[in-house]
Amino acid sequence: MRILVTGGAGFIGSHLCERLVEQTHDVICVDSFVTGAKANISHLLGKPNFKLIEHDIQNTLPGGEYDFIFHLASPASPVDYAALPIETLLTNSIGCRNVLDIAAENKCGIFIASTSEVYGDPLVTPQTEQYWGNVNPIGVRSCYDEGKRFAEALAVAYERKTDLVLVIGRIFNTFGPRMRINDGRAIPNFINQALTDEPLTVYGDGSQTRSFCYVDDLIHAFELILEKVTSGLKDDGSVKVVNLGNSAEMTILDLAQTIKTMCQSASEIVYGPLPGDDPLQRRPELAHARSWLKYEPKVSLKEGLDKVITWFAEARKLEKRVSSGEQT
Ligand code: NAD
Ligand code: UDP
Repeated sequence: MRILVTGGAGFIGSHLCERLVEQTHDVICVDSFVTGAKANISHLLGKPNFKLIEHDIQNTLPGGEYDFIFHLASPASPVDYAALPIETLLTNSIGCRNVLDIAAENKCGIFIASTSEVYGDPLVTPQTEQYWGNVNPIGVRSCYDEGKRFAEALAVAYERKTDLVLVIGRIFNTFGPRMRINDGRAIPNFINQALTDEPLTVYGDGSQTRSFCYVDDLIHAFELILEKVTSGLKDDGSVKVVNLGNSAEMTILDLAQTIKTMCQSASEIVYGPLPGDDPLQRRPELAHARSWLKYEPKVSLKEGLDKVITWFAEARKLEKRVSSGEQT
């Protein structure tokens, strides 16, 4: 199949491109590198079934024939979208429209990468797809939360008015190799701090919860969605919105302690202010993913962290060798 992946040079997008290329699909990756990196896809660049288009989706996309679209382009880390609030809103509105236009022209399936952030600071737990959320429209996270909520609404309007086939995936916290060490998210921060014996910075008292999913499990969910859609999804005509992640919930303080222990680090844990509108609890209800996709996450937090800690340690060593001018 010929598959367009927007945001394909980012953390999740690069894993997806890699998997699709392995499966011999023709993959067209569109990315502006605003938060992604060419290094994430450099190993794919010479392959005959992989093509990179450097392009900002806020501008009209070049047309093309596609069998499916994975739309992932958007800043995603709180530090990134706080630095890029206008770009985040425009990417998720005008940018999303530009991608939906391509899907409508092709009458093809499109997966929209939404987020657990559409639930805001949730008042119900676990969060089901039926929950409408508790979002501050003018808070520091609103550029992302409302951007993604608009993207969902726009995609549903396109589904009702055109022949595209839509799946909205609400992705919960995902981690893995190729996260940027300085992207500001809890897992890269804690690992980097633990590996350098710097203090681990827990915001608030650390009692807020998250549920972390290893990237391989998420990519497997994407494969299941591709299979479903391309084998005739429009079975019941309903809007397809599905939570994707891992429902094993933990406090952020537990996460910091786990990483400190796994890195055998001498770091202390220090506490800082909780950022505005930081959700206090987050756990996906995965019943729909289980029944519709037969999705089941398989990688435990510790197995996943083990891989990421090794990856970050290697990346740090490489960086040191490069900065000291040593030949590799
Ligand atoms: P990322 O920042 O690593 O990847 C996003 C990619 O999109 C980057 O390569 C970036 O350069 C590209 N991009 C951003 N704006 C663009 C634009 N206007 N034009 C072209 N390219 C653009 O983030 P990620 O963690 O890989 O997230 C990927 C998607 O998954 C995002 O849509 C994000 O909202 C969603 N998501 C991620 C998580 C998570 O835990 N990582 C959770 C929920 C949702
Ligand atoms: N967090 C923290 N220390 C850090 C980075 C993040 O305590 O150095 C907290 C953050 O306030 C949030 C949780 O960890 O409560 C998860 O943050 P992350 O940015 O990874 O994801 P998100 O908030 O988008 O779920």
